[in-house]
Amino acid sequence: MSAPLLETRGLVAQYGDTGALFGVDLEAREAEIVALVGANGAGKTTLLRAVCGLLPVAPDQVRFDGAAVGGAPAHRLVALGMAMVPEGRRLFPSLSIEENLTLGGWSGRRGHWTLARVYELFPVLRERRTARPTTLSGGQQQMVAIGRALMANPRLLLCDEISLGLAPVVIRDVYAALGAIAAQGTTLLIVEQDVALAQRVASRLYCLRKGRVALSGASAALGRDDIRLAYFGM
Ligand code: ATP
Repeated sequence: MSAPLLETRGLVAQYGDTGALFGVDLEAREAEIVALVGANGAGKTTLLRAVCGLLPVAPDQVRFDGAAVGGAPAHRLVALGMAMVPEGRRLFPSLSIEENLTLGGWSGRRGHWTLARVYELFPVLRERRTARPTTLSGGQQQMVAIGRALMANPRLLLCDEISLGLAPVVIRDVYAALGAIAAQGTTLLIVEQDVALAQRVASRLYCLRKGRVALSGASAALGRDDIRLAYFGM
């Protein structure tokens, strides 16, 4: 088996004096979809932020393509091939859809993903390219957030709760796009509240509880009851 593209070893993170992650070991391989599940406050968002340089962590705690990159500045990690689709999308409201997408590419890498390819993946964005993000539906806004991250040509795409607040039919479309992105060779680490959905789309799953990995394994091998137990700790 190939070496993991992303590896965390004993990852710890804290906010001031309060710990949020207490030694998380996780790995994700090339073109794999890995899901993080867990209750509110379990540390899922913190893990994504620690991986992509938004929280101070020790170099050895995050390895990317074999290199120790923990705590490296976010812009350097983008240049190395990480991109994040943040919770709440964080689009630039005064810019057009196309400007939002184009901005995603400025500090990134050249590669498969261009504006044309993002529009192929999400044709509705081409139709709405001169519109402002606030005039789009929630699902379309999420597509812009994903497209903007793709414009950096990431090898690893971190997605935080992209299904939140979306209708089931829209969630299906967005996840179909994530499948296409992984098939193109990108590794995905996704935070997903809906455990059943996470199990369907991800090859492997990590369940966090109170900042620790309570359960991990191949999605197909994990039983609902095991996950429920790990999730709630009961
Ligand atoms: P959610 O589903 O609610 O987003 P989560 O699993 O993503 O939950 P985190 O947001 O990573 O959890 O939070 C982990 C812990 O860190 C929680 O106890 C939370 O209160 C705390 N925390 C998160 N962000 C901050 C912050 N900016 N300042 C202080 N504490 C924080």
